[in-house]
Amino acid sequence: MTATPTRPARKLSMKARYSALTRDLDWEPSYVSSEEMFPYTSFEGIKIHDWSKWEDPFRLTVDAYYKYQAEKDKRLYAVLDGFAQSQGHLSLSQASYLNAMKIFLGGVTPLEYQAHRNFAFLSRHFNGPGPRFAALCQSQDEIRHAQTEIHTLSNYNKYYSGMHSFLKQHDRVWYMSVPKSYFDDALSAGPFEFLIAIGFSFEYLLTNLLFVPFMSGASFNGDLPTMTFGFSAQSDESRHMTLGLEAIKFLLEQDEDNVPIVQEWVDKWFWRGYRVAAIVAQMLDYMLPKPVMSWKEAFELYFEKQMLEGLFPDLEYYGIKPPRHVQQAIDEKEALSHFVYWVFYNFSFAANFTTSIPSKEHQAWLAENYPDTFVDYFQKPRWDKAQRIVDNGGRFFFMGLPQLCQVCQIPMTFPEPGDLNTICQRTSDYNGEHFNMCSDGCKWIFDREPEKYVQAWLPVHQIYQGNCGGPTVPDVLAWYGMQEGDGGEIAGSRDEVNWAAWHGTPAAKEA
Ligand code: FE
Ligand code: ZN
Repeated sequence: MTATPTRPARKLSMKARYSALTRDLDWEPSYVSSEEMFPYTSFEGIKIHDWSKWEDPFRLTVDAYYKYQAEKDKRLYAVLDGFAQSQGHLSLSQASYLNAMKIFLGGVTPLEYQAHRNFAFLSRHFNGPGPRFAALCQSQDEIRHAQTEIHTLSNYNKYYSGMHSFLKQHDRVWYMSVPKSYFDDALSAGPFEFLIAIGFSFEYLLTNLLFVPFMSGASFNGDLPTMTFGFSAQSDESRHMTLGLEAIKFLLEQDEDNVPIVQEWVDKWFWRGYRVAAIVAQMLDYMLPKPVMSWKEAFELYFEKQMLEGLFPDLEYYGIKPPRHVQQAIDEKEALSHFVYWVFYNFSFAANFTTSIPSKEHQAWLAENYPDTFVDYFQKPRWDKAQRIVDNGGRFFFMGLPQLCQVCQIPMTFPEPGDLNTICQRTSDYNGEHFNMCSDGCKWIFDREPEKYVQAWLPVHQIYQGNCGGPTVPDVLAWYGMQEGDGGEIAGSRDEVNWAAWHGTPAAKEA
């Protein structure tokens, strides 16, 4: 049956239609106070006088949003089908390329889901209809990201190790607690801090530095599904970046008292995000069989040029300065990835990925990209020594437990500013207990909210307290859900042996 309208509907302009479908659905509460209806938006000290000043640059409506996203999903799943049917898992550059994606699946995908949850919370709890609707769209984007990433990478799980228990491992494995604790910190903050932490500091300041390397790594190394996922998520990302920028400008314009609060959040969340990016740094410089660009280059382009030189001069108008510890991040770019991959090389027996001494060719690439640091500080004292051990028939792993930073949870490995030979260590005492931090940035974050960080679930402490399956390495690995072939050395690993058999090439000899 077809309904016949009594009068033809008048056609609204795009802007009027947008307003009717979003803003006009808002109302003033009559039988509860607005404080009762929106209980979370005052305790952080942020003052909002006029929510209608929030601009939505994309003017999306629910129907347009879902139509558009459904189109993108259709394209992605068509590519995934083709990939599965044509044995696409054989066309990677090397089996070891997938180490990068194992880290992505366990470290990033669960964060997408958490972002979905918290943006859903914000879409209920912001007082203004503009940001509520933007948060609703982002919440939907994020669950779609989690789903499409899982579906994309599940194609590899059938053939390769290390991807079978990513959710459980996200909650348990030592290095996963770096991204997990970062996001838990944001989830347990107030709504405006979350918006600055994830919407601005993550999505605007750091997203290109975090995602572009993974997606270009995929394109350089024959990973068509991940590349397609990346394109599918890209238009969402540009909306998220715009939301982050709108959010910070809106807060700064609403009241001068917001400026110092927002500045501290920018300071904190830049450093938190930058420390998580240490994992991306080692991925770019060491894990890609065909490297894309060095971490140093990526940092200079996506952070120093686009953010420090491009964005922060604009924010100065509002009284916002570049992040407090930014100079230490700049100084570390020469050495960051090398320290972190060295940790992974030492501890990959307890991870869902494999590591190896970089090949001669790869070391030459590293020396070329890091002329001032690689040869003297990393190649000679570390890799040459590791190579001598392998040449004599060994392969060492570090069997002790490292001290972790109380804030970023990364093992103490970062250098003292200006001195690559000394490990940086900072300490604070709180309520009669002693806490260790990896840097001035992490110590500043700890001292600002010690009552939050003393509660951190530190993987090493949890092992010592007997909460991780038992006292031995096999006990802990079983509790992590690790299976034979997940971690350890690349040479002779299950993935490498299978790869060689599939391609009819000889596998490297097991060390
Ligand atoms: Fe996302
Ligand atoms: Zn730290």
